[in-house]
Amino acid sequence: MPKFFIEKNQVNDEYVNIIGEDFLHMTKSLRIKANEKIVACDGVFDYNCIVEIITSDAVICKIMEKRSAIGEPSVKVYVYISVTKSDKLELVTQKVTELGAFKIIPFISARCVSKPDQKSANKKRERLQKIATEASKQCGRSIIPEVSEFLTLKQVIENCKENDINLVLYENEKDLSIKNAIENKDFTTISIVVGPEGGFEQSEIESFINSNFEIVSLGKRILRAETAPIAAISAIMYQTDNFS
Ligand code: SAH
Repeated sequence: MPKFFIEKNQVNDEYVNIIGEDFLHMTKSLRIKANEKIVACDGVFDYNCIVEIITSDAVICKIMEKRSAIGEPSVKVYVYISVTKSDKLELVTQKVTELGAFKIIPFISARCVSKPDQKSANKKRERLQKIATEASKQCGRSIIPEVSEFLTLKQVIENCKENDINLVLYENEKDLSIKNAIENKDFTTISIVVGPEGGFEQSEIESFINSNFEIVSLGKRILRAETAPIAAISAIMYQTDNFS
């Protein structure tokens, strides 16, 4: 069943109104007709609906069933990815959205090969947001992870202050595994911070340590920058029983 994300003002006790881009997608691409079933989601509830009337700018759907939104993991995982080639950022955005990321935050670190200016960063961000939106719809999430604007490393550290756990993935860490860093801990918010192809500089790792981030290993093999966040979020979802 096609799924649409809606704002609170598009729903009342009986009806959901699909408007804007989703209206066009529904009528022009999916060619949805009256009496077909759709699911709408406002982030809190999933609404199972039947299309009732199609006007020139809205599809009006009757709510048949309203239930708490499913599809969200019990932990909010913030994925911080160093800016790398666009196709790799796109791949990571799609995969971590499927795996349940709450927010995706690209950032620029010392060894990032690509350091886009404001205009190009905004364009990339928009494209990544579109990918996250598509992936959310396809996999049945109840929210769309936000793709943030591109941050600096200093902003990353500032942003993470409120999280229960903050992890930096570092291939030179030999002692603390991601498993040991999270097992037997109670947490609802966690960040994972991944470096670029060239890795983090020692001074960057020190800044993280000084701000109480835990530096963790994903094992003895060096993973590519796009593999590491996918592996890390999978480990967190497994450890917190969100793969069941
Ligand atoms: N430039 C480094 C590798 C960087 S890999 C080198 O060639 O030696 C890119 C990023 O993936 C790293 O910054 C780190 O965040 C993450 N990463 C890759 N393998 C990892 C591992 N085994 N443990 C923890 N993090 C890893």
